[in-house]
Amino acid sequence: MTQQTIDSRLQQVQSRIQAAAARAGRDPATIALLAVSKKQPLAAIAAAHAAGQRAFGESYVQEALDKITAFEAPGIEWHFIGRVQSNKTRQIAAHFDWVHGLCSPDHARRLNDQRPADAAPLNVCIQVNLAGEASKAGLAPEQAAELLALCQTLPALRVRGLMTLPPPAEDEAAQRAPFRALRALRDTLASAATPLECLSMGMSGDLEAAILEGSTLVRVGTAVFGPRPYN
Ligand SMILES: *Cc1c(COP(=O)(O)O)cnc(C)c1O
Repeated sequence: MTQQTIDSRLQQVQSRIQAAAARAGRDPATIALLAVSKKQPLAAIAAAHAAGQRAFGESYVQEALDKITAFEAPGIEWHFIGRVQSNKTRQIAAHFDWVHGLCSPDHARRLNDQRPADAAPLNVCIQVNLAGEASKAGLAPEQAAELLALCQTLPALRVRGLMTLPPPAEDEAAQRAPFRALRALRDTLASAATPLECLSMGMSGDLEAAILEGSTLVRVGTAVFGPRPYN
C-alpha cells in the first residue's frame, strides 16, 4: 500500500470520526484512533506512522513482538487487543503500553507481577461481553466490578476503562445498543479514584454508532489499512 493510499484512508477515517462527533455534539479531540495493524506488514505501520498515526493495535503476541522490535519510533504506543493467554502475559507486560481485553483475575495478577519495574503502569481496559456470546472473550457485566476492585490493588496496572467487541449488526440502532450498555455500566462503576474515562468501542463497521454512545477510542483496522492481506 502506498503512502498516498494510507494518507487518504487515515483522512477518511478521521472525517468519519469528526462527522460522528458532530452528530453527537462531541469534541472530536476526545476520540482517539487506534490503528489496528494485526496481519498487516511493517511497511503499512511505517506508512501510517509517517502520516502521523502513533497508536497501533495488535492481536497476536509473536507477530506483534516482531514488529515492535523492528519498528522503534519515538512516541509510538502499542495496544494489545487480542485474547490474553497465561503463557503470553510476560511478553505482553514487557512490550505493550495498553491491554484492551483484560477479563481474568489471574491475568491481571500475572500482568501486574510481570510488568518490568522501570516501566510505567500498564494501561488496561476490562473487556465486557454484553451479548453473552460464548465464542467471545469478556466478562459478564455483573463480574466487572470484582475484577475492577482487584485491579485497583495492583500497582503496576492502571485501569483506564471498559472495552467491548459486539457481534456485527446491520443497522445503526442495533449497533448502538451494546455500546449504550457499556457506557451505562461504566457510569455505575466509575469513581473518583478510577474514572474509567476510556470506552474502547467501535471498529471499521460501527465506529459511528460507538461514537454516538460515547466511545473515546475506536479500534479501526480495515478502514485504515484495507483488507488484511494474510491470515
Ligand atoms: C481486528 C480487530 C479490530 C479491527 O477490526 P476492523 O473491522 O478491521 O476495523 C478491532 N478490535 C478488535 C478486538 C479486533 O480484533
